[in-house]
Amino acid sequence: MFIEMNPNDTFGLLLRLGQDRNRGCLVGILQGRKGLILGVANEKSIAWGVARACHREGAELGFNYLGEALKKRVHPLAESIQSGFVEPLDVGDDAQLDDFFAKVEARWGRLDFIVHSIAFANRETLKGNFRDTSRADFHLALDISAYSFIACARRAARLMGPGGSMVTMSFLGAVRAVPNYNVMGVAKAALEAATRYLSQDLGSEGIRVNAVSAGPIRTLAASGVGDIRKLMEKSARGALLRRNVAQEEVGNATAYLLSDWASGVTGEVHYVDAGFNIGSGDPGGEPAPSGPASPSS
Ligand code: NAD
Repeated sequence: MFIEMNPNDTFGLLLRLGQDRNRGCLVGILQGRKGLILGVANEKSIAWGVARACHREGAELGFNYLGEALKKRVHPLAESIQSGFVEPLDVGDDAQLDDFFAKVEARWGRLDFIVHSIAFANRETLKGNFRDTSRADFHLALDISAYSFIACARRAARLMGPGGSMVTMSFLGAVRAVPNYNVMGVAKAALEAATRYLSQDLGSEGIRVNAVSAGPIRTLAASGVGDIRKLMEKSARGALLRRNVAQEEVGNATAYLLSDWASGVTGEVHYVDAGFNIGSGDPGGEPAPSGPASPSS
């Protein structure tokens, strides 16, 4: 079911949701929306947590995959949420970007949102001394992890109208020196600045651009960061909720940013890190025994 919403009319939205609920039909906050989720590698990917939340909220989703090995993983995941759009895309290649977005246009004709959940740096750069980063490794990390968001945003914006929304994934290493995060911290700083400049460009078109800064989560990409186990332990102890966040929590916060509930929010870096960034760090106590809450998804 598609409901017409005036993003400025929160009361109207509430009323409609109530009416639809009264008719026995729950309407999700992304009902009728079409969106791309870029960066699913497997079921542990943050992008997959976002995809599940967006699917639950009623969106129709399209996916990319990087290389044949990941195609085999992404296809069944996409099928499990009734998505028929799964296409190859290496964001380091402009021709592939053009091709990918041409397929999106041919299939849907328009786009309501994109989620950019992509980063890459050579493993050797994510341990040891930051000063040893080579020029080539610096370029690669910033190209794939930061520039690619600009490249995707430009192509996606052409297919969007007012109400369009874009979200990328960042980490605290953008604004603090985090051991071993090194060149990826510089890339995330560029990504957060790009979020602000994109939101400036696209604001006049009614398109919003935000970043989510997620606490550490065990994924393929995270396993490349040196001493990730220690980082996660310290993060759980230092978080105000005394635990790390779950993939679903990042998914739910991202779905909100993509939806009209966040119609007045753009250019923001929204932390989903159990309060780690505003605390004073590891208080030396034990983590909460309960572990992450598991919001329904
Ligand atoms: P992940 O390994 O599941 O996802 C990374 C994705 O990037 C993969 O799907 C990979 O295929 C894709 N990718 C890499 N190079 C690419 C290229 N050239 N073209 C297209 N795709 C490419 O790991 P994740 O942790 O889910 O990472 C997703 C995002 O979240 C990244 O931006 C990461 O920096 C960010 N993030 C992760 C954490 C964490 O602790 N896991 C915390 C904060 C932010």
